[in-house]
Amino acid sequence: MQIQKVLTNLTKRGFKPFYFEDRKEALDFVLNLIPQNASVGVGGSMTIKQLELDNLLAKRGNTVYSHSLVSPELRDKVYQLAYSSDWYLSSTNALSEEGDFVNIDGTANRISALSFGVKNILYVLGNNKISPDLESAIDRARNIAAPPNAKRLNKNTPCATSGQCCMCDSEDCICNATLISHHPTRYQENVYVVIINETLGY
Ligand code: SF4
Repeated sequence: MQIQKVLTNLTKRGFKPFYFEDRKEALDFVLNLIPQNASVGVGGSMTIKQLELDNLLAKRGNTVYSHSLVSPELRDKVYQLAYSSDWYLSSTNALSEEGDFVNIDGTANRISALSFGVKNILYVLGNNKISPDLESAIDRARNIAAPPNAKRLNKNTPCATSGQCCMCDSEDCICNATLISHHPTRYQENVYVVIINETLGY
């Protein structure tokens, strides 16, 4: 993977990409980028959790809406608040070297916010999320990202035990809707992409 090629392709697509050798530089950049008085919605993301970015933003004064931080009965409300935040923070299940983001959701709260709900988007991802092309990015989202997520979320799906996707029709399926983002959409004002030279998330 040639990172310069990825950055060039993302720029051509209209995204605003930045590359960092380590998480400290990346976190400093993000904390400078997002205004301290902004509300920030957060999608379910192991990368964001590993970086503790939601906690860092909350501690320094941002209002953070993250369904993973609240009890189940408050989740619907937090989904709505995250969807109408000033910023939305997410990783991605995969990014093709050509500049396509692939995300698969069970509830679709994240892909709704990433495609329409929020004007300022920030993707944060480790270099392990980058796939050579769109086809392999879709395959990554299904076969590398989704099974460990199903297991982590205690879902009753075949992949949670086998570690492989079989395109299930389970009631617990976490793959109900797929978003492929080729460009920022018309509603979006800024779509930043922070790539860190580390393995992060699934
Ligand atoms: S088995 Fe079902 S839940 Fe698991 S990755 Fe495949 S479609 Fe998604």
